[in-house]
Amino acid sequence: MLRTLSRPIRHHSHFLARAMATANTPAFNKPLYAPLAEIDPEVQNIIDKETWRQFSGLELIASENLTSRATMEANGSILTNKYSEGLPAARYYGGNEYVDELEVLCQKRALQAFRLESSEWGVNVQPYSGSTANFAALTALLQPQDRLMGLGLPDGGHLTHGYYTAKKKMTASSIYFQSLPYGLEPATQLINYEALRSQAKIYKPRLIICGASAYPRDWDYKTLRAIADENGAYLMADIAHISGLVAAGEQANPFEYCDVVTTTTHKTLRGPRAGLIFFKRTGDNAKDLEKRINDAVFPACQGGPHNNTIAGIATALLQACQPTWKAYAQQVIANARTLGSELVSRGYKLQTSGTDNHLVLWDLRPLGLTGSKLEKLCDLVGITINKNAVSGDASAQVPGGIRLGTSALTSRDMLEADMKVVADFLHRAVQLALVLQKEAGSKLLKEFVRVATIQEEGKQGAKQVLELRKEVREFARRWPLPGVDVSTLTMPEGFLDE
Ligand code: PLP
Repeated sequence: MLRTLSRPIRHHSHFLARAMATANTPAFNKPLYAPLAEIDPEVQNIIDKETWRQFSGLELIASENLTSRATMEANGSILTNKYSEGLPAARYYGGNEYVDELEVLCQKRALQAFRLESSEWGVNVQPYSGSTANFAALTALLQPQDRLMGLGLPDGGHLTHGYYTAKKKMTASSIYFQSLPYGLEPATQLINYEALRSQAKIYKPRLIICGASAYPRDWDYKTLRAIADENGAYLMADIAHISGLVAAGEQANPFEYCDVVTTTTHKTLRGPRAGLIFFKRTGDNAKDLEKRINDAVFPACQGGPHNNTIAGIATALLQACQPTWKAYAQQVIANARTLGSELVSRGYKLQTSGTDNHLVLWDLRPLGLTGSKLEKLCDLVGITINKNAVSGDASAQVPGGIRLGTSALTSRDMLEADMKVVADFLHRAVQLALVLQKEAGSKLLKEFVRVATIQEEGKQGAKQVLELRKEVREFARRWPLPGVDVSTLTMPEGFLDE
């Protein structure tokens, strides 16, 4: 078997390194001491393949990033063993003296990373993910069937902001609450605050949610606060995508105006997969907020916190508190701007013509190409992107665009000049997709994939896919991969597309 050293380099755990069964260890406990590669080569091989994929490809998914070695060490630590339902100094289990210390440290760093005073803001660091953070926040702020307003999913909002279709209430946020989406102004593709104001006047929501999964511009929190106040509503910002940029002071500050701020920790913030809920401690809306948020996280929505993840969040937040964090965030934005302008200079159309943050929304409709086809082709050549609705799409099921983000490539040390190379790969992928679409002789994705992957007499597309893939792979493998000693990597057995 070909072995790779794809696991993060581990020097941290003297207890793991020296972990050995004794002569008296019963057979049923011997597996507790064996390394993963030995005890479970199947899982090890899957990790190796994923490591090789991340090393060999260009990661442009806007909601992803590459977390640090330290965060992976914390996330893979012995803290996974511990139950700690409750809050620091108020647990339902014993043995939490160090877990308490950890959670308090994580809370302190979360406030510090966003320049918040503990007299004015508190934070719950226990949510397992962004979706559970949002549902806990809704549970705290609303009664069942209360009304909320969030940016509509086809306009860039998130599922958890009240999304429903004509046929189905899609998420707990529309099943247990009533919701009305607000949207973009078609001409500018910016949030239409005046339309939101008029809608809110009639709908009288109890909560307005701002924040998005696919919106390349900044938010006007002051206006949102005014609209919320006109209707006696709470204002909550879900800054999942941009929290790393907010921490760096590179986006408008939602804490100036919102009652509650939620975020994921694994996107621009570059931590492990989890969520945070910040709640205001001062002002009229803050009454009981702390208790309601904390009770909503546990016991209403979750059980025991994942302490290994909280250690990973703390470590990631420490990095976000360093002066170097601002430079990272600025580079992410500069890279996104360059990627966007390089695409525009090749004749492509972007939603709002550019970006102020880490992502660009690429409108493929003028090309007669769907987001699904470009996503599929990019997967085949080692560029990871995702199809995305663009403003005006008739159906979110057949998105007319692509969302691209630069957080992960920036974490691999790429700068503006490298974005030009990436834009060129994307340009070639589009040109190739148009050739393949023609060769497929049909609009069906299945046919598109067939001509992209099977070489046929008289057709050029599949061969060009292999050529482009080779170049993308060579380029991608020039860069480091956080937490991994890439000099020791070799292609693992079973890796699919070489
Ligand atoms: N909120 C926003 C704005 C998001 O974009 C996402 C995920 O993409 C979430 C919440 C959900 O986060 P998670 O996938 O961690 O549940």
